[in-house]
Amino acid sequence: AKAAGGNRFQLADAEADARAITRHGLTTSLPAALDRGEFFIEYQPLVHLGDGTVHGAEALVRWCHPQHGVLGPDRFIPLAEHTGLIVPLGRWVLEESVRQANFWQERHSDGGPLRINVNLSPTQLHHPRLVAETVDVLERSGLEPGALCLEVTESALIGADDDLLKPLCQLAEMGVDIALDDFGTGYSNLANLRRLPVSVLKLDRSFTRGMQQHPADPVDLKIVEGIVSLAHSLELAVTVEGVETGAQAEQLRALGCDTAQGWYYARPGAPDRIHSLLLADAV
Ligand code: C2E
Ligand code: CA
Ligand code: CA
Ligand code: CA
Repeated sequence: AKAAGGNRFQLADAEADARAITRHGLTTSLPAALDRGEFFIEYQPLVHLGDGTVHGAEALVRWCHPQHGVLGPDRFIPLAEHTGLIVPLGRWVLEESVRQANFWQERHSDGGPLRINVNLSPTQLHHPRLVAETVDVLERSGLEPGALCLEVTESALIGADDDLLKPLCQLAEMGVDIALDDFGTGYSNLANLRRLPVSVLKLDRSFTRGMQQHPADPVDLKIVEGIVSLAHSLELAVTVEGVETGAQAEQLRALGCDTAQGWYYARPGAPDRIHSLLLADAV
């Protein structure tokens, strides 16, 4: 048993080494990857729970790596954060997805405004040119600020002081929506929400996961009900992530959530997918 344990440890060490080597390789090849155009964006629809119509889409970045194939953001966003490459990469994601959203809007002007949600990392949040660059991207694309929603994680805003909130307040004043992403995973004081320039709460997938069981966990239901009522009393919209079944969608609709996102509606996919969903009436 001891020998096997030893081997297991050696194997674990070898795996850790391999992971470190890959991590190092990925980190050093990140800047060139951006120049070579190896990143692409998948879009996942956000759907109105009331009538199933498409409300907008979240932009989710991927890396088509020449050796490793398609890598999800969890593999490289932390590295890009660490090296600062997240700033030019995030700028590219914003530019590309805003351009795409404007393209959709121009072709579906009758369908009401289509929203584009873009994730902002903490480093981007601290970048002095965030507001100027966002304004610039919007102006060049022709998309109105009200169609853009920037998603910021709850943890990035914990303990945020006025210096950090100022650019977000400026963006909010222009009409850009700010969403609090992964809500419920951090430890922020609910009363603190009033201080933040957010207009959308994105309930983390951990809540929807509790609703997959039948019957759903009554405590989870109570918690979601409480969050929704608090959010609505503060005039915040509630989006739920990770909806995988029709039963979950129905339950979340009954609890008063406004919009939803998840595999039940559509997995993240190519821009054409959103285009055809917009042509159809509902997902
Ligand atoms: P997130 O913002 O919480 O994005 C939602 C994640 O949940 C996405 O993972 C999405 O593919 C996944 N998802 C959506 N519906 C379902 C479902 O029904 N079930 C399950 N199990 N998962 C679902 P993804 O694409 O791997 O992105 C992971 C994270 O990477 C994102 O989490 C976000 O924090 C970050 N990210 C993605 N794109 C960007 C970006 O352009 N910039 C920055 N800073 N972060 C990004
Ligand atoms: Ca997000
Ligand atoms: Ca999220
Ligand atoms: Ca999440």
